[in-house]
Amino acid sequence: MKYCDLHIHSKASDGTFSPAEIVERARNFHLSGIAITDHDTVSAIEETRALCAERGLEFIPAVELSTSALEGRMHILGYYIDTDNVELNGLTEGMSTSRHNRISAMCERLREIGIPCDYDEVRRIADGASIGRPHLAEHMVNIGVVRNVRQAFYEYLAEGGKVYISKKSNPPEQTIETIHRAGGLAIAAHPGVTHGMMDFLPELVDMGIDGFEAYYPGHDHETTSKILSMAKDLGLLVTGGSDCHGMRKGQPMLGIFKVKFDVFEGLRDAHSRP
Ligand code: AMP
Ligand code: FE
Ligand code: FE
Ligand code: ZN
Repeated sequence: MKYCDLHIHSKASDGTFSPAEIVERARNFHLSGIAITDHDTVSAIEETRALCAERGLEFIPAVELSTSALEGRMHILGYYIDTDNVELNGLTEGMSTSRHNRISAMCERLREIGIPCDYDEVRRIADGASIGRPHLAEHMVNIGVVRNVRQAFYEYLAEGGKVYISKKSNPPEQTIETIHRAGGLAIAAHPGVTHGMMDFLPELVDMGIDGFEAYYPGHDHETTSKILSMAKDLGLLVTGGSDCHGMRKGQPMLGIFKVKFDVFEGLRDAHSRP
């Protein structure tokens, strides 16, 4: 049986593995194909593509774009995107600015309530990556104001937390259009774990979404079945992956949660159809 993983984060966003570590681990777990889906950046794609070619792994260039829907919690995956596309690059550059502004503003709020956060230190942790709350959480652990990342999110950074600010991003219809204009296929990311997203799927279908992420660690059997049957009825694609963030969220999921290779082929066939 052949397997793949179509949802992986690298150090270019909030994962902890480099492209080389991802490709090595994927090979060790006998995966046949992978996609890198960093948040709002395509900067790890070229390196990973080259490593996959060298090591005999099939590869799909991809991205996970944050959108403004559902209070900024809705993510849309773009597969087979052209990383040189000017419109897509404009969108990711805009997201980079808004991510920096947001994390800087959250640091400011932390200082206002007496927590000595240093934005430059958070930037240093992100090290050029698509900066986000996980990097700020790591800084808070480092300075000893929280015991762990979980507590940083629960008390401060998650929705309802003391310094939460929503991320400025683009509406889903624009995000889907940009993925399409960059030659990609747009897929609704983990609809079963983003609160309110299952009910939003019909709207995404009207906006031209190409498929749904069905196989996902946070989806129970019932949710996966429901997504599969909706996709089948609508003639849409399904995808799946581990959403591995390296060591950032406990055990690395890459190779532990894997998806049948048919799913990779379904995406590849849809992309190569005229
Ligand atoms: P951001 O892109 O800055 O909004 O941060 C979102 C990222 O934070 C997600 O992709 C997860 O990697 C991580 N995250 C979200 N909620 C939590 C949580 N409760 N605990 C740990 N990590 C989380
Ligand atoms: Fe993440
Ligand atoms: Fe996501
Ligand atoms: Zn993800």
